[in-house]
Amino acid sequence: MRSLLLTTFMMLIVSCGQKSSTTTKRGVFINNVNRSPIELFKEYTTCEGPEAESETPYFNLIQFLQGRLLKRNLDMEDSISGNRLRNSNGISDTYYDAKMMLKRSFRGGELVGLEFVTTQAPKAMSICPGVKSYQRYSYENASLSANYSINKTISRLANVGFNSQKPIGLYIAPYTIERQIVETNEEVIQEDSRITDNAYYIPSMSSIVFLPQSEESREGAGFGNVPLWEVPMVGSHEYGHHVFHTLMGQVSGELSPSHSGCFGKSKSLAANDVQSLSNMNVGDVLSSLNEGFADLIAYYTLDGAERGLNNVVCMEKNREVGSPVFADNTSKLFTRDVLDVMFGGESAILGSCLRPNFKSIHTVGAVFSSVSERLMKRYRLTSSQKLGIILNWLTDLRKNHRNFAHLGGEGYLVKAYSLLAARVKSYAGGRPLSFTCQLIESLAPESDLMEEELENLNCR
Ligand SMILES: [Zn+2]
Repeated sequence: MRSLLLTTFMMLIVSCGQKSSTTTKRGVFINNVNRSPIELFKEYTTCEGPEAESETPYFNLIQFLQGRLLKRNLDMEDSISGNRLRNSNGISDTYYDAKMMLKRSFRGGELVGLEFVTTQAPKAMSICPGVKSYQRYSYENASLSANYSINKTISRLANVGFNSQKPIGLYIAPYTIERQIVETNEEVIQEDSRITDNAYYIPSMSSIVFLPQSEESREGAGFGNVPLWEVPMVGSHEYGHHVFHTLMGQVSGELSPSHSGCFGKSKSLAANDVQSLSNMNVGDVLSSLNEGFADLIAYYTLDGAERGLNNVVCMEKNREVGSPVFADNTSKLFTRDVLDVMFGGESAILGSCLRPNFKSIHTVGAVFSSVSERLMKRYRLTSSQKLGIILNWLTDLRKNHRNFAHLGGEGYLVKAYSLLAARVKSYAGGRPLSFTCQLIESLAPESDLMEEELENLNCR
């Protein structure tokens, strides 16, 4: 699938070029319309009479849960102020009808710039407080659904004492162009394509963006068979990135720039695939931990049925924290073989929905989140306790980042795991140390570097 896409891009580069003269080098502009975004519609432009008034905060939302579409009656009090989808401590506003551009610049095969900008001012989203049910592909239903899961995550985080000082903006289905600018010795190739079927956290805008669903995905072309705002785990995951950036502060500037913070894997030009063949460095490991952390935030702040990913193409099992295996039954463990792919000279297989690619941050993040959950699961901790542990773990990581950063990717991963194990171990009171140590060791990266950590954890 991925190689097919790549071939398509390559073919476009050689066959559909259109010269431009904006630089001294030969410029080639390609307009690659690869998928057709499904446009949402605003169901109510104004609210008349009783539509403008409400007696209860309950709304009927259409969401995708446990593998099917459900109409759910949900309390939206946290999400609504008057007729706006905003609140004082979480989402500063919800926007629709925006146009955006994601610019990626490559030089010498490496990503050198990544920028997300708004190219058409969005409209502020409104609902009619007295209208309790909206059509599935309306902006109203999409906005309510996205607000619901993000605000649930915000409120569960507040329950354990985490409050972000910085509110976020929420963009629903903006028309988005991805512009790839590839500079080689001879020419500058600029390629525009519409992007769909993904969600992003954009740190520079402090915003979460849900891209439109595409017709192709809706009809079964792969990831995106469901509009992502209908899957509660997705919005909560993106908010998890906001938490990561908030807690990590300046350290988040060291995230690998080649990973754009999207929910799924991104489709891209050859430049990214060149990147994916080199060994994972500290920035890549940090980016993977960011992904794993975001999955854990979603898992511990949503309730059972809401955090599942049944029938969400490509995400089922692969991104379910509670699943110890990927879709192809590969274990979610940092075995020596996996570490060799991540840090050794071995090239990764091209990943797909069915085969995990251990040089991809979402795959590595999924191993980390699964291992973390399995460590905590043995001690029958509540979701709130687990949430507290991972928030404290991330704070520990920030404090130690400077000491770990020179150790290289594998050393950094081992240290990050060890910090988590130490946090979990403090909850293991009353149980024999050997039991705890056995568990910690069985889930640890199979790295020689782990020996010293086991000593530090008094497990040797
Ligand atoms: Zn993510």
